[in-house]
Order: sequence, then C-alpha cells, then structure tokens
Amino acid sequence: MITNRISKWLYLMILGIVASLSCGSDDGEAPRPEIPVVSSLELAVSESFTVAGHNKPLLLTIKATDSKGSEMFNPTYSILVDGEDKGQISAFKSDESGSFELKAVFGQVESNAITVHVRENKTYEAKSYKVIFHIVHDGEPLGQGYNIPADRIDYQMGLLEKVFEQSSNLTPNSALPNIDFELATTDPEGNLLAEPGINRFQRPDQSASILFQDWMWDHYWDPDYYINVWVGDTKNGYSWGIYPEFACTDTEIPEGLGCTSSADVHRLEGIALELDNLYTENWVFPHEMGHVFGLFHIFSGSECETDVDFCEDTHQYNRDVYEGAPTAHVRTSCQGKEFISYNVMDYWQQLNGARDLSYDQVERIRAVADRGLWRGSKSLQDGTPRDMSALRNGG
Ligand SMILES: [Zn+2]
Repeated sequence: MITNRISKWLYLMILGIVASLSCGSDDGEAPRPEIPVVSSLELAVSESFTVAGHNKPLLLTIKATDSKGSEMFNPTYSILVDGEDKGQISAFKSDESGSFELKAVFGQVESNAITVHVRENKTYEAKSYKVIFHIVHDGEPLGQGYNIPADRIDYQMGLLEKVFEQSSNLTPNSALPNIDFELATTDPEGNLLAEPGINRFQRPDQSASILFQDWMWDHYWDPDYYINVWVGDTKNGYSWGIYPEFACTDTEIPEGLGCTSSADVHRLEGIALELDNLYTENWVFPHEMGHVFGLFHIFSGSECETDVDFCEDTHQYNRDVYEGAPTAHVRTSCQGKEFISYNVMDYWQQLNGARDLSYDQVERIRAVADRGLWRGSKSLQDGTPRDMSALRNGG
C-alpha cells in the first residue's frame, strides 16, 4: 500500500518535471533563481607578523566570487592553518611561535596561501634609566619662555612611558622592551635635585644652540649614568636624537649603526628638544628616544626603500609621496598596502594618543640597551659619575 502510494507520487512528480521542462522549451527560458556557487577565493591578512600569545589577533579578509565573477556576501568558507581546518574564522592568533600557512577553502576551491610569522614572546631583563632634562633658558622667570614649567617634562615622560613601558596592543605586532625611564633624583655629585629630572641654567648667549655644541660639555652629565636631554633653542626648529655607537670589536652590531674604537666618551650623547616639540600630543620626545636606542624612521624619501629601518615588521613608505597628497593617519606602504600609522618612528599626521614599537624595533632597542656605548646603563648604586668637562677633547 505504502509502496503504491510512493510510486504514484513519484510518477506524478516526474510528470510535473517533464511538463515544466517542455513548458520551458515552448515559452523560452523562464528566469529561475540560481544558487550562487563559490568559484574563487582570495585571502588577505591584516599583518604578516605577530607575537605568540599577543592579545590583538591578525584579521582575515576573505573575498569570494561566484561563477559569474560577482563578489559574494557572507560566503561560506573554512580557514586551513598548515592544512588543518579551523572552521569559518575571521581572525588568527597563536600561542606558539613559528611560521604558519593560511588558506581559505570551500569545497574544491582554494584561495591563495599566506605565510604569517609568529614571533617568540621573549622575556627581557628589566632595565632602568635615569633621565635628566637640561632646561636651557635665557634668564626668563620659571615657567616662561625657554624656562618651561616642570609639568611639560612630566607630560613628555608620560608619553615616553606610553610607548616604551605600557602595553598598547595597537597592532598584532606591538611590543615592549621592558625598560623603564625615571627622572633623575640626584645630580652627578650625589646632591638631591630641587626638581626631579630637571637641571635649569642659562645659555652662554643667545647665539648658542643646543644642537650638541662644544659649550654643552660644561653641562653634560655622565652618559654612562644619565640620558641627557637638552631642551631649548635648536636654531632650526627640529629636535634630534643621537644614534648609538658600538665597540668595533662587537660582532653583532645592528644593521645601519656605526662603531667606534674610542675607549671613552668622545662626543655629546642624548637628545636636543626644540621647545615647540613639547606641546600636548607632540610625540617627538619618545621618537628621539627611539633614535638614541638605535631606531630609524619607518619611511624613506624620494625612493621607496623597503629596508630603510632594518625592521621586517614595520610598514615602510615613501614620505615624499605621502606629503605630496597627505591622507591623514592612513599611509600606503612600499608594497601598496594601506595601513594606519601608529609607529613612533613615523612623522606627524598620526592618530592622537597612540604610538607603538614593533617587535623588530624592540629587538634593536635591546641590542643597544645591552651593548650600545654610553647609553645610561650604569647604576648610581654601583659607581660615580665623572666630571665630563675633564673628558672634553678626549680628557
Ligand atoms: Zn626622527
């Protein structure tokens, strides 16, 4: 009985299909809804580098097109990580370091493969630095002109801490060097400073600039113990940070940095900060500290140089092209990829309140902290700062 009913139903259904087919051939093609089928997949990843266990994942973008070449909305796909199906994920992170191959698949359709690099999450030895700001004025009352108030210094130290000490997680590649900057509390003779981290004095005359001129040796605090920051008139509107040197016997000098065979301090080390660079939301001070610790700009001028800063994991771009047609905080890298510029070694036109260091930059900083010469790495507990005037011209 049941069998008979099914046979009858099947018979009617086949009739219906034949009828509809013949109907179609009589009246021409009737529009019929077509189920779109994925015919190609394209995978893009927000960054090629990240760090094991990083809070910020890499974002995956999947573009699917159907057989007619139209882009599909909400396509179905799976992500393969080293061939293992992870399901329909749109972000990737890993607690394990290494290189991983990512691919999007749907049925037989496979996307391009992208290799992402997950760096080892290192624990660096904690280091602490004493910073002294030499406020070089023209005799103005405290708080006026070049004789800036202490709160400007505190504000800039806050920006420095944000970049070097506080976890930002702005990108999947943001990293920290585990170094701490503090305002010096004593001078080279061991006297307590009236204002922490501040040494105020008048420049010899108004023609004197703070761009590492010879007269500054008289106000130079031993760079083995302090990071010297001169604040005042640079004469050209720019601030400067002095790149580190290594001993020429060092076999692992970070790329782009120089060496010296000089046994002792032979030049003024530190930072010269133009007064205009101290205002709110101006990140020049942490940028110059980046130079002091061996970092270069992430951009080049005229030509697009992809190894301009010797860091694989920063986006590098042509600054001349950008300045010709600025696009606010968005840049286009030498590889043609758009990115938001958070890096502290970039120039102006970045988002407020947000700067970071990349993993490769942190590796350079650590090399300088560990082996760079006259970088303020000695502790006042373990030695006595010298009179730098006596060391002028080689001592
Ligand atoms: Zn710079």
